[in-house]
Amino acid sequence: MKVAERVRETPPSGIREFFELAEAADDVISLGVGEPDFSAPWAAREAAIDALERGRTSYTANRGRADLRRGITDHVARYDLDYDPEKEVLVTTGASEAVDLAMRALVDPGDTVAVPQPSYISYGPTAGFAGAEVLPVPTRAEDGFKLTERALREAGAADADALIYCYPNNPTGAVMDHADLRPVAAFAREHDLTVFADEIYAALTYGSEHDSIATLPGMAERTVVIGGFSKAYAMTGLRLGYALAPPEAVEAMTRIHQYTMLSAPTTAQFAGLEALRSCEGAVSEMHAAYDRRRRYTLSRFREMGLDCFEAEGAFYAFPECPGDDEAFAEALLAEEGVAVVPGSAFGEGGAGHLRVSYATGMDDLREATARIERFLD
Ligand code: PMP
Repeated sequence: MKVAERVRETPPSGIREFFELAEAADDVISLGVGEPDFSAPWAAREAAIDALERGRTSYTANRGRADLRRGITDHVARYDLDYDPEKEVLVTTGASEAVDLAMRALVDPGDTVAVPQPSYISYGPTAGFAGAEVLPVPTRAEDGFKLTERALREAGAADADALIYCYPNNPTGAVMDHADLRPVAAFAREHDLTVFADEIYAALTYGSEHDSIATLPGMAERTVVIGGFSKAYAMTGLRLGYALAPPEAVEAMTRIHQYTMLSAPTTAQFAGLEALRSCEGAVSEMHAAYDRRRRYTLSRFREMGLDCFEAEGAFYAFPECPGDDEAFAEALLAEEGVAVVPGSAFGEGGAGHLRVSYATGMDDLREATARIERFLD
């Protein structure tokens, strides 16, 4: 059967490709996947079970249940984000759908979307599916992988129409605070860029609280904040996320969502509401575990002599590796059975690094780092 050109032109995900290799091998420790090793907190799972028992198996409103939308706006108030649950929230099937909708509803074919790299792998392809051109904006290890005004300017982002980024960052673990975001916001205002701020890792910062670009002057009206339940609440398989944006943007995204998705999974919406209501304790425990593993992984890489940037968010370490990162990752998998993702899978600026997820148990992390050390020797 004929496959559409825009799909043929989109390469398969470098991460997936790697996982297929890893799955085929025996005794592999995977530090590859970007998902929590925990299950969703019990209270959230119980709310899902209860919803099923009560037969709550219908669609919800296109925008998501009203109580969940209110729960989300109350939740993000902790980051000083102020949104109207009636008009400025859309509940989506994972943050992934929110990214896709933002691209398709707010970017025209032929527009340019600036994508700081290394970054999460879905931004380029979703921009492409929307018919837009991607402008890579390399970020640098010397800048702690933060997005700078200089990087935007040098890449030619002044002529772009939109900018999408994630901080806390996948794959580097970099975070950006208000001081870092201010020049980016000024650039976006000056050059009239729409900003898609993927803040799915907002709850996973290890120094200071998360800062959102949408709280800076003149930014809420040009920003879509994307969030979700997959990471902080360990709910990847439940597929629940959201977009926060001005009413006209939410209206536009809902226009697509109502035809293509109808509503986000109902069972997940019940779980998500309960997660927001009662699972702070469970989130803190997972957060503390990630922080311990973060410090352990960083110190182990430094002991091995690998240059490793101190990640302050998400659950990834991003050490430099000797030689070609793809060859390194392949050999590490073949010889020692440790799966990590080559940094170049995340675009320009990622080469020469490895993304190592520490969302995995301490025992595996100890064994995997011992194997990496042996491999380096
Ligand atoms: N954004 C980022 C930065 C991510 O790392 C991920 C998951 N790996 C997603 C979005 C997708 O999240 P979801 O499961 O909510 O679709």
